[in-house]
Amino acid sequence: MSQYQHLPRQADVLKLAQQAIELSGTVKLADLPRLRELLENDSGEVTVVLNFAQDEDRNRVVTGSVEAQLEVLCQRCLQSMTQHVATTLSLAFVWDDIQAKALPRHLDPVMLEDESGYLDLYAVIEDELLLSLPITSLHEECASGEDGTPRQFGDIEESGTDVTENPFSALEQVKNDLKKTR
Ligand SMILES: [Zn+2]
Repeated sequence: MSQYQHLPRQADVLKLAQQAIELSGTVKLADLPRLRELLENDSGEVTVVLNFAQDEDRNRVVTGSVEAQLEVLCQRCLQSMTQHVATTLSLAFVWDDIQAKALPRHLDPVMLEDESGYLDLYAVIEDELLLSLPITSLHEECASGEDGTPRQFGDIEESGTDVTENPFSALEQVKNDLKKTR
C-alpha cells in the first residue's frame, strides 16, 4: 500500500497489530481540535505512517512517523511562519498502569479504554504532534516592519551604543596624559 489515503479516525488497533498491518495516510489539521487552537491556518494535512505489530514480548505495538508543516505565530515578530514538525513514534497498547510500567523503555504506553481494541488514532497522532511542537517558534531572521530588510541580533546593540563620542574622549584622555608628563 504505497498510496496515501485518508486515515480512519477509529481503528481496532489490536486486530491491526495481530495482522501486522501498515497504515499510511493523511489527517486534516482541521480534524485535530487541540492542535488547531495553536495554528494560524488549519488548511494543511498531517502525513502519517503506522506499522502495527506484535513484538517478541507479545506487546501489541505501533511504530511509525508523523509529519506536518504547521503555520504558527513567530513569538518575536508576531507574523506567521511555517514550522516543520516531524517525529517518530513507538507505542504499546495497554489496559492498566501495571502493564504500562512493565513496558521496555523504548515503548510509550497508550491506554485502551475497553477490551474491544478500538482507539481514536487522531488523538494519538495529535498527542505526538503537540509533544514535538517547539514551545516557542521563531523565524531564523524576522523581516523588519518598515523597509523589509532582515533584522539581525547585532543591529540593535550597535545602534544602541553611542560610538561617535568615544574616539574623541579617548583622544582627549591621551592629550591630558601628555600634558601631565610634561
Ligand atoms: Zn519573526
